[in-house]
Formats: sequence, structure tokens, C-alpha cells
Amino acid sequence: MRQYADDATICALSTAPGMGAIAVIRVSGKDAISISNKVFSRNLLEATSHKAILGSITRDGVEIDEALTIVFKGPRSYTGEDVVEFNCHGSTFIQQAVLDLLVSKGCRMAMPGEFSLRGFMKGKMDLTQAEAVADLIASESAASHALAMNQMRGGFSKEIAKLREELINFASLIELELDFSEEDVEFADRGQFEALIGKLLKMINTLIGSFKTGNVIKNGVPVAILGAPNRGKSTLLNSLLNEERAIVSSIAGTTRDTVEETMVIEGVQFRFIDTAGIRNTSDEIESQGIERAIAKAKKASILCYLVEGDSAQEWTSELQSIRAHIEDSNIPVILVLNKLDLISQWEDAQMELDALVHQTDWVHSGLLISALQGQNIDALKKEIYRQAEINQESGNQAIVSNVRHLEALRSAKENLEAVLHGLQNGISGDFLAMDVRHSLHHLGEITGEITTDDLLGNIFGKFCIGK
Ligand code: GDP
Repeated sequence: MRQYADDATICALSTAPGMGAIAVIRVSGKDAISISNKVFSRNLLEATSHKAILGSITRDGVEIDEALTIVFKGPRSYTGEDVVEFNCHGSTFIQQAVLDLLVSKGCRMAMPGEFSLRGFMKGKMDLTQAEAVADLIASESAASHALAMNQMRGGFSKEIAKLREELINFASLIELELDFSEEDVEFADRGQFEALIGKLLKMINTLIGSFKTGNVIKNGVPVAILGAPNRGKSTLLNSLLNEERAIVSSIAGTTRDTVEETMVIEGVQFRFIDTAGIRNTSDEIESQGIERAIAKAKKASILCYLVEGDSAQEWTSELQSIRAHIEDSNIPVILVLNKLDLISQWEDAQMELDALVHQTDWVHSGLLISALQGQNIDALKKEIYRQAEINQESGNQAIVSNVRHLEALRSAKENLEAVLHGLQNGISGDFLAMDVRHSLHHLGEITGEITTDDLLGNIFGKFCIGK
């Protein structure tokens, strides 16, 4: 990671690699303007910051491209350094030629996330904000976009900073006591301190609790569609995805190991687990099929169980094989009675379904649909959304969506609980101070007041090149 820490002027393609209408090539560093000036037909040394200039990029007198070029004088730039951005035509040949030219004039190719790392180093943003930039680029739904935007604006850091500040005030009083240890004085009022720790623990617990929501918003809610063969699982999936087909195609997960179908309901992404597998299997009732169903169910937050038949007895007997697992796991089950078009007494069926939901605590809701004819599919979508229990109304409340943050919060919580325990048992100031220092350390890790090279490498190494 420390290979990052030179003061080289760096360059990279900041738009997506490959052919496009426009390619943005970004240069950052102390020589960004002078190096760029060497390859550009107009004078960039005296260019006004943040103003576009049209000119040519040339190599040995040969024009490579006409480009709209913008100088961002530091610190008013993304990295906090001098930055130049060339908006070229998006040919891969031009992209390569311009980058080669810049390197020949003294730039180094940027590593993944290096522009953002420099922004962090220059204090343009804290770590959570830098991480939010990566999340924003990766966001695929309105909700994950909103979450990343909020974090980028510092919503989350503010909470953490507030926590740390209050703790630091008290920590310094305790440390002061240690300086006067022979005199047996107490500057830090133990009662007040205990109240503060209680308050902090409450806030941390709220943040930890928000992870459930944050995580599903960021990564999508996993849903498994289960049922015996020929219940209409593939038909349902097609029907659910029908409207979306035009804009969303199956994505081969980059961080996920299976191909998944995804769809957005009420701005939140839902991932249908291993649907390729579901479509190809016709052996769900065989023992192997049941194992497979349980494996799918284990990965899901919601189960849609498709059944057929006339009576509650038939429906529940279909569920029997995975019931034991479901009851343990507390995963909400939506019992979906398919092929409603074939049922003559559908009101009776609905009543029986409602009664079943009422009687069992492991079937959370029941719906009649026709996957083939598209009946009640919207109601099913709403039910899937409802069962996900996503609280999008949290407004300004900070939501944790990053596992790194969650782990740091959990560690801070452990330390604070130790402080609380210590206070309640009259433990001496030096032990209290130690636990307080540890919790400050963990909170500082979140925003980046405390960093290590490994941590930075881990975070920024996952960014795309050019960001
Ligand atoms: P899977 O094995 O559970 O994936 O079931 P399929 O989706 O392949 O469907 C099995 C059969 O049931 C197909 O012939 C579908 O056309 C039919 N089917 C699915 N949904 C409905 C429905 O709502 N009504 C009727 N009448 N047939 C359906």
C-alpha cells in the first residue's frame, strides 16, 4: 500500500474502460498542470480553474484528439491537489494514446482508488465518505443510492464524531486524574460518566441495529422461490421480472458466486437466489431436492413457497419437508397458492389460506396468484416488500451498511461495556482509561482518524481505477 504514498503525478481513465462517446482522462498531482500543458495546444498554466477549454492533444506535432479540458486548482478539486481532466472522444485508441503520452511526460498510472485516497489524505473527505463514493458508483437501486448519498454527505461520520468528542472530553478528565494519582482526586464525576457511557451505548446499539436495513439496502434482499416441481416457480419468476426485463438483465455477480435475477421493488433491490438452479431442477421432492431447497432457504431473508391443491392440508404437506428448518430460522414464509385461474371457488381458498396463516406462526402470509396470467403479482410484490421489513422512513437517522463499520462499532461497544462494568464496580482510573482509549480507537477507525496502511489498502484497493 505504501507504494501509493509517493507524491507522483498520477493519471488514469476515469470513465468506464472500452469504447464510449466520451472518455475522461484525469491527471492529479503537483505537476498535473505543467505536464498537461506540455501535451495540450492551449495554455493551461494560466487557465482559469473550473473552466472548460477546447484544444488539441498532440504528440510530436501530430494531433491525437480534440479535447475539452478543465483545470481544477487544488485544493478545490476531488483529490485536493491540482487536477486536469481531458474530455476526449471515447475511442480506446485515443484513451491509450493520451495515457501513454502523459506517462512519457512524467505521470505515473494511478492505482485503484488512488484519486480518492489522495482526497482522503488531503482531508477532502473522511473514510466513510470515501467508502460512500465506491458505494455510490456501485448503487443499483434508488434506496442504495440514497444511502450512499447520505453517507457521502457525512451523515454517518457526524454521528461517530459526536460520540468520539463526548468520550474524549471524559477521557481527558480521567487521564488528568492519573496525573494526580497520589492526591486521590476525582475530576471526572463517575455518575455523569456512567450516564454518558449509557447514552453512547444506546447510540451505538441503534447504529448496530440499523445494519440489518443498511445491508439489505446496499446488497439487496435475498428471496428464495421454493416449491415442488411444476408449481409454477419459473413462470412466477418470469412474471415478476417481466416488466423489468427491458432495463435489468441477469447479472453475473461480481461479489456473489451465483448468477442471480434481481428486481427493484419500491426502490429496494431484491435478489432471487439461485434461480437458474430452480429453473433446471425438477427433483425438489426427492431428498436431494429437499436439501437443495433448504440450502436456498438458508441464504434467503424471505421464502416464497409455491403450492397447489384445494385444501390447507395439501398445502402444508408440501411444506412439511423444510418446515423444521424454517421454524428454527425465523425466516418469513409467504405461502403462494398458484394457478388461481384453475380454482373455481377461489374465495373459499383465500379464506382457508387466511385461516392457515392465522393458525400457524411459521407461515407469515398467504396469497392466491396466477403466475401464468399475471394475476395478483403486484400484491405478491407488495407482500415481499412488506416482509422485508425495511424501514426507509428513517429519515436523517444514520444507517450502517458497511461491515467494516459494523465490526468497529461492535468492538467499541465491547470496550464501553467494560468501562460501564468498571464504573459500577469502582475500578481504578487507569483501567477505565485503557478501555476508553480502546473504544476511541475503534470509533476513530471508522472515520479514518486512526488508520493503518493495511486498512487503507483494503478499502481503496477495491475501488475502480480512475476513481
Ligand atoms: P416449476 O417446475 O415450479 O418451475 O413450474 P413451471 O413454471 O415450469 O410451471 C409448470 C407448469 O405449470 C407449466 O406448464 C406452466 O405453464 C403451468 N403454470 C404455471 N403457473 C400457472 C398458472 O398460474 N396457471 C396455470 N393454469 N398454469 C400455470
